[in-house]
Amino acid sequence: MAAENLQQQERIPFNKPYMTGNELHYIAQAHGGAHLAGDGTYTRLCHKWLEQTTSTKKALLTHSCTAALEMAALLLDIKPGDEVIMPSYTFVSTANAFVLRGAVPVFVDVRSDTLNLDEKKVEGAITKRTKAIVPVHYAGVGCEMDDLMSIAERYQVGVVEDAAQAIMAKYKGRPLGVIGHLGAYSFHETKNVICGEGGALLVNSSDYMINAEIIREKGTDRSRFFRGEVDKYTWRMVGSSFLPSELTAAFLWAQLEQADGLTSRRLRLWNRYHEMLAELEVRGLLRRPIVPEHCDHNGHLYYVLLAESVDRQRVLSALKEEGIDAVFHYVPLHMSPYGRETGRSHENLGVTENIASRLVRLPLWLDLADDKQDYVVDRLKKVLLKVA
Ligand SMILES: *Cc1c(COP(=O)(O)O)cnc(C)c1O
Repeated sequence: MAAENLQQQERIPFNKPYMTGNELHYIAQAHGGAHLAGDGTYTRLCHKWLEQTTSTKKALLTHSCTAALEMAALLLDIKPGDEVIMPSYTFVSTANAFVLRGAVPVFVDVRSDTLNLDEKKVEGAITKRTKAIVPVHYAGVGCEMDDLMSIAERYQVGVVEDAAQAIMAKYKGRPLGVIGHLGAYSFHETKNVICGEGGALLVNSSDYMINAEIIREKGTDRSRFFRGEVDKYTWRMVGSSFLPSELTAAFLWAQLEQADGLTSRRLRLWNRYHEMLAELEVRGLLRRPIVPEHCDHNGHLYYVLLAESVDRQRVLSALKEEGIDAVFHYVPLHMSPYGRETGRSHENLGVTENIASRLVRLPLWLDLADDKQDYVVDRLKKVLLKVA
């Protein structure tokens, strides 16, 4: 029993949500102010912060990134049979938001360096039915947005950035999430800046500014009514309730205020892994992440791609025995039961299938002590030398 407790205490979890210390204080303020529904003082502070930090026209908090993607699908007026191009190597929400509207996800392979949508393969996947391209910035590393935006312009299709993992990251100096027509952030507890469950829609194209507010407020123009722009509010179009309560926004504000510090602390841990694992890369046991020169990432996650000869399941189990929770990522959507049913693959997805079978994410969270991190690296070395 005692030994088990000790082992429990010393386990290194994959993730541990970090609190800045001001969350409960701001929630108490919201409580005292007795405005608990959405769009109060804290929501406004978060909106302003997001708009200023990313220089976008309009940011709207949502109750998740999934919700922000669902809003994007409504804003682009996605209809049954429309096609939406996206990577298969992503979280289900990227596809679900569009499938909810009857769209067909068209899966395109990823680049072997960044594991992001391969922009060179996107144009070949476009048909008369294509309505949108949804790049996903995996691990907070930017997709090749210049290429994607010029393809989108040529074919007159929308671009929705799934920037769930990409807050504070940049592509050629521009924040990710604000380059496409619409962008979506996540504040889920596993992300860099958190509030439990939460997200934001970044409205970067003025075409969508009015409708985005309406869709978020149950299809009504209530937001304009509160600003005194109309004298009553009413049902304008299809919508839903996508806004979070002030309690969530108050929590989030405590995190956004410190987003710079949170990001640099993550980057420090990321860089430590990167340096310490160089040796294993030289030995051919794994490949480390590749970040292009023109991308400033945010240290969202640290992964390694194991050598093809290494049995990943054995590595994960051996690490578990050493008290370390390392995890794989993404069963590719085109291989999932529902992805097969609803989606279509453009050409073969060889890179996706290859990397998805080799990838391991290591524990990375802000209070992870250096000696614990050293221990993870040490055990990974030991395990790899044994199984290789
Ligand atoms: C986390 C994540 C989401 C979903 O975010 P929620 O806020 O949990 O809805 C969507 N896409 C990607 C790529 C993610 O990593």
